[in-house]
Amino acid sequence: MNKIPFNKPFTIGAELENIARAVADGHLSGDGPYTKRCHLWLEERLGCRKALLTHSCTAALEMAAILADIGPGDEVIMPSFTFVSTANAFVLRGGVPVFIDIRSDTFNLDERLIEAAVTPATRAIVPVHYAGVPCEMDAIGAIAQKKGLLVIEDAAQALLSDHKGRRPGAIGHLGCLSFHETKNVISGEGGALLINDPKLVARAEVIREKGTNRSQFFRGEVDKYTWVDIGSSYLPSELVGAFLYAQLEHAEAITAKRLRLCAAYRSRFAKLEQAGVLRLPQADPPGTAGNGHMFYILLNDLATRTALIAYLKARGVHAVFHYVPLHSSPAGMKFGRAAGAMTVTDDVAGRLLRLPLYYDITEEDVAAIVAEIVAFFGASRGNE
Ligand SMILES: *Cc1c(COP(=O)(O)O)cnc(C)c1O
Repeated sequence: MNKIPFNKPFTIGAELENIARAVADGHLSGDGPYTKRCHLWLEERLGCRKALLTHSCTAALEMAAILADIGPGDEVIMPSFTFVSTANAFVLRGGVPVFIDIRSDTFNLDERLIEAAVTPATRAIVPVHYAGVPCEMDAIGAIAQKKGLLVIEDAAQALLSDHKGRRPGAIGHLGCLSFHETKNVISGEGGALLINDPKLVARAEVIREKGTNRSQFFRGEVDKYTWVDIGSSYLPSELVGAFLYAQLEHAEAITAKRLRLCAAYRSRFAKLEQAGVLRLPQADPPGTAGNGHMFYILLNDLATRTALIAYLKARGVHAVFHYVPLHSSPAGMKFGRAAGAMTVTDDVAGRLLRLPLYYDITEEDVAAIVAEIVAFFGASRGNE
């Protein structure tokens, strides 16, 4: 069959026309008309107080760490089963990631383990909505309130997911989104910081504009702009906003299509799951809905996963495993620490396999991939 990549970037609407218009209009630095439209879209559709585009979710997390005033020795509770940026953003401020285990159903941080990990040095909790499936935000919010902690959502994968009528990224004090080309809505590299706590909005604008009050200056709120705080250049070019706005206009359709593709995978895998050779993603927790960000299968052991990746590769299908747990990574051990056992994290990290999923993949491709995996298990059983 034709080669099926793991991911393929796509356009869906006026991306290229918007870029041409931005060039013609002569505003290519940050915060031009398209970037502002993206901000408005995010604020209206997600319900956050303020949205600011960034170069990446990594940059948004770094801004969040500055806004949270993380300093040397401050602890931040997060799952070990996540992308490096979740931890690295806080380590850059001298903070200490405190890793806890994940739930065995959603692979999101296990909220029942948070309180035991809290110490006098704890400043924040960072829930990561894995595969776009929302974390237990009610329980997390209650602990944060009781202990006086900030909630900083890593919602990189969770654009337009639903948690009891609210959108991930717009629930905690701060939320971070990614528009990396592997996410649902893309701009190549890109991200956004969502600010839900009104007290943090003004400082977020300053941090994003190199520590200056330039945003206020452009709004006419101050008569000159100057250096007022620490910061960096976190605002993307208008080219990014122009591309991204075209994608946001179709974000609901993109989500719906990805959910259909996930359903196609799921129904075709039903027999293999019944046969006990793999586990499919669990149903979304009550009151929540995912966004079709990812489709993974959980194999029975590492050896099977390794063999299946090679088998699919030989047939032109690129499937990949996911996070190498942070608590046992070289930098994770140097800069962070594990609180409690990491049983589920270590187990899942060794068995999870992500399958190709992107906007332009067809249901025929999905059927062909599943057929190869069925053949793999038929062949491996025949060999026993
Ligand atoms: C993709 C991802 C990031 C990083 O996003 P970038 O935009 O590439 O910086 C961070 N956290 C999680 C959970 C992600 O999936």
